[in-house]
Amino acid sequence: MPDHARLVVETAPGTFEIRETPIPEPGDDGAIVRLEACGVCATDLEIFHGDLPFVAYPLVPGHEPLGVIERLGRNARRRWQLSEGDRVAIKSSLGCRRCVLCSQSAGCIEFGEGRLPNYGFQSPDRAPGLWGGFATHLYLPPQAQFFPVDPAVPTGEASTFNALSNGVHWVAVGGVKSGDSVVILGPGARGLACVIAARRAGADRVVVTGLGNDRAKLELARDLGADTVLAVDPDTVAETVLDALPSGADIVIDTTPVATRSITDALGIARQRGTVVLAGLKGRRSVPSFFSDDVVNKELVLRGTASTPFAAMVDAVRIIESRRLPLDRLATHSFPLEEAEAGVRSLEAKRDGDRPVHVHLTMG
Ligand SMILES: [Zn+2]
Ligand SMILES: [Zn+2]
Repeated sequence: MPDHARLVVETAPGTFEIRETPIPEPGDDGAIVRLEACGVCATDLEIFHGDLPFVAYPLVPGHEPLGVIERLGRNARRRWQLSEGDRVAIKSSLGCRRCVLCSQSAGCIEFGEGRLPNYGFQSPDRAPGLWGGFATHLYLPPQAQFFPVDPAVPTGEASTFNALSNGVHWVAVGGVKSGDSVVILGPGARGLACVIAARRAGADRVVVTGLGNDRAKLELARDLGADTVLAVDPDTVAETVLDALPSGADIVIDTTPVATRSITDALGIARQRGTVVLAGLKGRRSVPSFFSDDVVNKELVLRGTASTPFAAMVDAVRIIESRRLPLDRLATHSFPLEEAEAGVRSLEAKRDGDRPVHVHLTMG
């Protein structure tokens, strides 16, 4: 067993360095996980570029970790009913869930105001130093939330649990039920996860939109259960969708990042008394041509969603373990820990075919 962990430290936006640190003892109430993989998502790219609030540097990135329990405290063993060698998917949130900041989703007193109390946002100087998934090892404090994963599931598929849990949650937030028509804007890993979850919830018609360079992802959307996939011109999204679905959608889920146009598209696509789920952050941009009268006249429900409950993660792991879907095709890009920067930057690829669906690092 090595006695040192290797970890990526983002010392400032755009600067990764690899450090080593002694692997600590977990104490009676915690555990040390030997990481197998960590999902990489658009949030990691935003942190890399210094584009997110509530982020202080230095930090150890990585908030979608998967690994094997290596060292386990005495009390933790009993309380968690775990053994060394158990494989677990770990939820990113670390808040105590008891303090006033936690109750307001404004941080956590234990982790300080102004820093998200999540894995992937903590300083390497915070004891015991292992708070990020871009590392060979991770510390589980008593409040950590995780779920066992069947060791038979290949690493790539298992590493999609966080993206899948978002889809499961967003579809639940939209209230998708049997017979509904669902339009999903954006065929990224989370949009594809919405396809899986919408089908599972009994949706009657699932439509997914993407841009011209999303053809490979749209093909995958179809194989995961979408009825209709549309490569759209960004200027005519609503029209194109309504051509395919003239009565409009019961639920529209906007998973697209940055571009604000998708918000007005979603309002246009939703049918009378439909629901629009806003899941993609737009970098605090305002939405031009947003007419609240459309919401009033159509009696729409607008639902925002930021965090994903643990139950959705459990559901995601069950979907993965069912092995009924070609989830291996989600796990398109894998990089070793030493190439973490290339892994994060791979999300910037523009050309269809080069564009990852889901990226993960492997710790070797
Ligand atoms: Zn993420
Ligand atoms: Zn707290």
